[in-house]
Amino acid sequence: MCAVGGGPDDIAREEQFPTAGPDETLERITEFFRSGATAEAIGIGSFGPVDVDPSSPTWGYVTTTPKRGWRHVAVAPVLRDRLAVPVAFDHDVGAAALGEYRWGAGSQARALSYLTVGTGIGAGLLINGKPWHGLIHPEVGHIRIPHDRDRDPFPGVCPMHGDCWEGLASGPAIERRWGKAGSDLPDEHPAWELEAEYLALGILSLVCVFSPDRIVAGGGVMERRGLLEKVRTRLRGLLAGYLETPLLGEEIGAFLVPPALGDRAGVLGAIALAEAALGDAEFSAPRC
Ligand code: ZN
Repeated sequence: MCAVGGGPDDIAREEQFPTAGPDETLERITEFFRSGATAEAIGIGSFGPVDVDPSSPTWGYVTTTPKRGWRHVAVAPVLRDRLAVPVAFDHDVGAAALGEYRWGAGSQARALSYLTVGTGIGAGLLINGKPWHGLIHPEVGHIRIPHDRDRDPFPGVCPMHGDCWEGLASGPAIERRWGKAGSDLPDEHPAWELEAEYLALGILSLVCVFSPDRIVAGGGVMERRGLLEKVRTRLRGLLAGYLETPLLGEEIGAFLVPPALGDRAGVLGAIALAEAALGDAEFSAPRC
């Protein structure tokens, strides 16, 4: 998705097209930004893993992705060279976290986690509104959660790890385990209690390691009616009263919240990244 603008109420142009091979896709992106109103800076939220280290020779690359043809492909440097504007680059969930922080359900959070559960599981982590990258960037979808193979013999769908969190609880995992897409499973199907348990187990790790003061949980799977409430209940059970704060108790509804921007979080977050590229070296790459 490409857009030119300054925020949710200020989008001058927008276009969406499927991700093809790198050459064709980068060419289409270049064409988009060369025609019509020009962008002063560009923010990119990319599928990953990606290299977000500005001091690295491969900054702005998609790195070890399983996506065909995209391993070790330069993305941000190519667009920066072609379009000659400052470019900021982050993981797609990192950008979405920034969008929700700036204009959505994550505003004012000191330690924000934006979690998406859909075709995969990922989370962007922000500390005081700045993306937390660390060594590479967080890849929370690939943490391990307890998996009782007697109760749930499903081996998981992650091509790298089988039954990691994403392997057990992403949309494709639900579909493969039950032989039907989640959208075709009724509310009373046992799939949803198991899903709530797996999601709560992963979120428990996020809570214990990152100590977020808000988690925005979105993505296609999370849109399921009633699922978020089930996850909150399970999470409280797993915490067992150990971390005593209202947000993990009776105010959990203000802690684990749905997104406000829906599927707009990523593209709006990319705009926030672009804005940062104009004024804040921490976000941006070596300038052209
Ligand atoms: Zn995995």
